[in-house]
Order: sequence, then structure tokens, then C-alpha cells
Amino acid sequence: MDCAVRSRPGVTLMENPRPVMAAAAHKPEAMLVGGTRPEAVKLAPVAEAMLTRGRMCPVLVASGQHESMFEQALDAFALRPNVRLRIERPTGSQPELLGELVRVLDRQLVQRNPSIVVVQGDTTTALATALTAFWRKVPVAHIEAGLRSHDLHAPFPEEANRKLLAQISSLHLAPTKRAVENLQAEGITGPNVVLTGNTVVDAVLSIAGRPMTYSDSRLAAVENRVRSKQNRLMLVTVHRRESWGQPLAGILAGLRNVLERHKDVEVVLPVHPNPDVRKQIMAGVSGVDRVHLTAPLNYIEFCRLLSIAQLVASDSGGVQEEAPSFGVPVLVLRDVTERMEAVEAGCSTLVGTDPRAIADHASRLLNKPPLLPENRPVNPFGDGLAAYRTEHAIASLLGLKSADSTAPPMLRTAAAGGE
Ligand code: UDP
Repeated sequence: MDCAVRSRPGVTLMENPRPVMAAAAHKPEAMLVGGTRPEAVKLAPVAEAMLTRGRMCPVLVASGQHESMFEQALDAFALRPNVRLRIERPTGSQPELLGELVRVLDRQLVQRNPSIVVVQGDTTTALATALTAFWRKVPVAHIEAGLRSHDLHAPFPEEANRKLLAQISSLHLAPTKRAVENLQAEGITGPNVVLTGNTVVDAVLSIAGRPMTYSDSRLAAVENRVRSKQNRLMLVTVHRRESWGQPLAGILAGLRNVLERHKDVEVVLPVHPNPDVRKQIMAGVSGVDRVHLTAPLNYIEFCRLLSIAQLVASDSGGVQEEAPSFGVPVLVLRDVTERMEAVEAGCSTLVGTDPRAIADHASRLLNKPPLLPENRPVNPFGDGLAAYRTEHAIASLLGLKSADSTAPPMLRTAAAGGE
């Protein structure tokens, strides 16, 4: 089988791209497995970097966890999966998903015999892949290693997945200095802990500014009103399991309150396909004036809206990491975040789910003029070279040399401990 292929030519994340090396022939295979939207966004730059450097053959495997959203996000990078796993999920439970994934992934590992397996984040897909690879003695590279909320039950089950992944991975690719320290505190140290930055910054920088047409004409109208300074945009996402029920009711009441206080604010809220989330959001804000509920947006559209928003409110991890690249402040709709770097850098505020707190913090930010680009805090999650560092670390682990194996520059941001 060939390496990952770009489905449209001329799309690349790195400057001075070298020709794409698509033939698998003699190259060690790196099997990149993902199943959700954030995994696609954060693995895509790594697949790109591998294709561009040409030292190994990236093979993209879609686990089927959130099939359509994984592929929708990959599409923004002109990538598509090489392998689509077929899993049975009659009940939809997490243990069932884990069991099924182990069953089908094991078959893939035996058939393909990759040199390394690459997983991202803290999903059931990442855990199942790493476990299967561990049992088959295939090394695991873990992207976005070291995030911790320090509460095993929040986020559930992700915090446990992160800790388990750290125990069985061979290479720990940490996005920030704090993530490195979290790993050290658990006894995971040494040269296989590498500070890379978060590949989401590479992703967002490569996608921002890409020409696009909105799939929903209401969004083009929102952008026109924002650009003509008629209205301001508050972009909102909510999907976390821990937000369902009472917390989400508080968030939706907070949004209604913001709209009552600020008549020039419009809310765009792409609704996560989970039926419980969807039902609650429809009941809470559907039909409210200046609220636009949409289907999940493709990544290019989402980045465009992020770039013109005055404010973002979200319980998403990825959105907390992306918004600082546009200087857009984030209200984190959770009681705890494993991304405190953004709070400390002044990029986001942890507001919880109380309606009053959400409305007060939103008003505080909406009443301030937006910061000029030169006064914005630097994105604490990376500098856009994380995928390049990741490729280099994996090549080093595998002992791959090439004429062009210069080490990438070290990450230097406040959160990385540089100047
Ligand atoms: N995102 C997207 N379309 C949307 C909403 C979000 O492409 O309609 C992207 C967003 O830019 C980020 C990722 O999805 O990169 C975050 O996914 P999610 O919030 O589902 O997961 P988390 O980051 O919390 O794990």
C-alpha cells in the first residue's frame, strides 16, 4: 500500500516543500491512527511533515470512532485515510468501542507490521491503538503527551487514558514545558520525552487565510456584518460529556444573557452530532434572536470564523489552543482545564458553567477594545513547527538518517520555558 496521499495537489504545511514521496517501497511505515476530529487536525500536520521529509511512509488509519468528523477534518488538509476500520457498535459504549478497536487493530498490526504507531491525545482510539501496539511490541509515539487535569474523573475517561498512554508509549511528544513536567512527576523522563509544541498550531496557521466558500449562506452573511462592523461574533462550541445536563443548561442560559446585554453580538454555534447534546442545545437556544445553530463546520470554515470572532466560548481543548493564534480571547466553559498555559498567558479565562459568571466575563471582554496584533500574547502552545519536531523525534527513535536530518530549532515560548 502507498503512504498517505494528498487528495489535492499544492497543499502543504511546510515552507519550501520537497516533492511528495508516495511510494511505500523501502521506507519504514509509521501508522497514524485517529478517530475523532481533533485527532485528524493534530495528526494531519505530522503526516504532512513525514511526506515532505520523505524518510518514512505515513499511513493514516481511521478508527471509525467518529467516522464522518474525522474525515471532514482531514479533508481540509487534502488528506484521506489509507485504511478505514470497520467496527461494530451496537450499544455505543466505551468498553465496547475499546474491545472492537483492539480486535480490528490487532489484525492491521499483524498484516502491516509498521515500524511505529503514532497516536494523539486521550481518546479511546488512542488508548486502544497504544494497547494493541504494546502487546505486539510495536513502539508507540504519543503526540500531545503530558496533559493532566489531576482529576481522574474529569475529564472522564480522558484523564485516565492520558495516564495509561504515558505508561506504554515509547516516545512522549509534549506540547509545553508543563506537559514535560507532568510526565517527569510520574517518573517518565529521559531523551524520549521531547518538547515539540502542539501540532494544532501548525494546523491552524496552515489553514488560516485559505480561500473558502461557506457551506451555509447564513455564515457568509454573519461575516459580512462583522466585517462591516455592524455586529460582533461570539463563536461557541460545547460537546464534552461532563457538560451534558445541568452544566450545559447553565452555559445556554449564560449565552442568552450575553445576547440580551449586547445587541450587536451574534452567536454561531456548530452543534456536535451527539444526539443528547443536540437535543439540549435545540431546546435551549434554537429560535433565539441572533443565534445561528449550524452543522459541524469543516475546519477551514471554522478557522475563518475563529479569525473574525471577538470572543470564543468553548469547552473544547483544541479551540483553547487555536484561538490564541488569532488573538481571540476564550471563555473556557469548564471548572478545570489541562491547558492552564493559556489562562496564565492571558489568552483564556476559566469561567465554569454558571450563567451569571459566563455573562459577566463575556461582558468584561466585549466591553474592552480588541488588542492590536502587536500587543497580543504569543500562543503558548507552539510556534508552528511542532510537526517538524515530531517527525524528527520519530526518525531519531527509529534510527533513520538522511542527508537532511538537521534537528529543528528548539521551541521557545513562555510556556516552553524559553524567552
Ligand atoms: N472544529 C471544527 N469544526 C467545528 C467545531 C470545531 O473543525 O464545527 C475543530 C476545532 O477547530 C478544533 C477541533 O475541532 O481543532 C476540536 O474538536 P473538539 O472540540 O470536538 O475536541 P477537543 O479538542 O475538545 O478534544
